[in-house]
Amino acid sequence: MEFRDVVKRFGDNVVLDGLNFSVAQGDRVTLIGPSGSGKTTILRLLMTLEESNGGLILIDGVPYTHEYRGEKWVEIPEKRRRVVRNRVGMVFQQFNLFPNMTVLENIIEAPVHVLKKSKAEAITRAEELLEQVGMSEKRDFKTNQLSGGQQQRVAIARALAMDPEILLLDEVTSALDPEIVADVLGVLREIAETTDITMLLVTHEMQFAREVSNRVLMFDHGQIVEEADPETMFTNPTHERTKEFLKAVL
Ligand code: ATP
Repeated sequence: MEFRDVVKRFGDNVVLDGLNFSVAQGDRVTLIGPSGSGKTTILRLLMTLEESNGGLILIDGVPYTHEYRGEKWVEIPEKRRRVVRNRVGMVFQQFNLFPNMTVLENIIEAPVHVLKKSKAEAITRAEELLEQVGMSEKRDFKTNQLSGGQQQRVAIARALAMDPEILLLDEVTSALDPEIVADVLGVLREIAETTDITMLLVTHEMQFAREVSNRVLMFDHGQIVEEADPETMFTNPTHERTKEFLKAVL
């Protein structure tokens, strides 16, 4: 996955001003940095929840949103773009489950309607995933009857049900009570240990970043100011901006 000279503006606010970075398959990368530095925007661009204003996003070397045709860059039609987008899964801070559906219905919705899996196949996979996230007993509950931590575990299972190559995790523990955070982190740690899914996470849980990721990127004003393995980043940062930021959050 690669960002090449990616530009993103909201009105006059230039959030990303020619961002370049790449992530290898199986990498676990944590994005850190002050509020407003563009971390969530990066994930939302990858998920095509936002449109970029320039540059290229590539997956497996293939441009994701634009292609070169007739000697100019043109937008890739939504239908073809979706094929690539389906390889990216995202878990949000606020879970974003369908509240009136059961846990199982939430998980099989996209595999059946988007990947066109048979219902039986989707259910088998959903049950495996529910087991993995410790939510089998809640299979037939409506998701609005679940606690935040339970909803987040279902949201993780729902993202994994699409067999993503890339999993985006946006502050997935921020809305949870502290005693629940460990459960969700445990589920994510297991995914990191047992799969080769590429993970991009935005988190303020530095301990989690340390345990799960192998690379940390420090952002400020939409640019990477420092990059290191977690141990180095958290114990021996070199950039002033990183030192200042970590002093405030650690
Ligand atoms: P945080 O740690 O607070 O979540 P962040 O690093 O994830 O911050 P982003 O959410 O990516 O930052 O936001 C980057 C900038 O883009 C901010 O200045 C924000 O106000 C602006 N922004 C984000 N989404 C929108 C939007 N939909 N409309 C207008 N401005 C937006």
